Amino acid sequence: MAESIPKKKERVLNIIRIFDRVYGDADCTLEYKDPLQLLIATQLAAQCTDARVNLVTPALFKKYKTAQDFANADAEELSSIIRSTGFYRNKTKNIIACGKKLVADFGGKVPETMDELLALPGVGRKTANLVLGDIFGKPGIVVDTHAGRLARRMGLTKNTDPYKVELDLLKLVPEEKQSMFCHQLVFHGREFCNARKPFCNACPVRDFCPRAGVD
Ligand code: SF4
Repeated sequence: MAESIPKKKERVLNIIRIFDRVYGDADCTLEYKDPLQLLIATQLAAQCTDARVNLVTPALFKKYKTAQDFANADAEELSSIIRSTGFYRNKTKNIIACGKKLVADFGGKVPETMDELLALPGVGRKTANLVLGDIFGKPGIVVDTHAGRLARRMGLTKNTDPYKVELDLLKLVPEEKQSMFCHQLVFHGREFCNARKPFCNACPVRDFCPRAGVD
């Protein structure tokens, strides 16, 4: 019989209680010092690892400090810095356009609402939710590849489309825990629940996971 939503919610609360103890305030694995840097770093993280992005951003943020700097950037110069993150031509185009839009419509500041963030070139729901949660302390479910995989394996969603996963998790995770829960899922994937061989025997949430010992 399918697990009811109230039962699933209860299970999620138990998982969160354990995650809070094991992982605490898990931070975003991207390195940044201000909202603009997180916005840009998240765009670079598309189809790239956070570790690789963290190698690239020190030089990038040394040269470009404001939205105006990105708006005025020379595409070739910017590309040469971000090349190793992949899809660099597209990312360069979006980052420059994003800088221009921030200057033109938001006074050079990163906006604080989902609709405004989604209006920025290169910004999708993942980036917008990350900025809303980590910068502005608003609820938001960030579904990246890892969080989506973990949510499916732990029976919190059956969906593969990130937006549908987001909607499923929104129903289960209390607002004040949403942003943190997604970071904790990423940490949990790395520590115990890796894609090829999950360490279920040692997993701290095995009592609340329907896949314990199955994969
Ligand atoms: S019990 Fe196994 S499958 Fe479930 S979360 Fe833990 S490591 Fe992953």
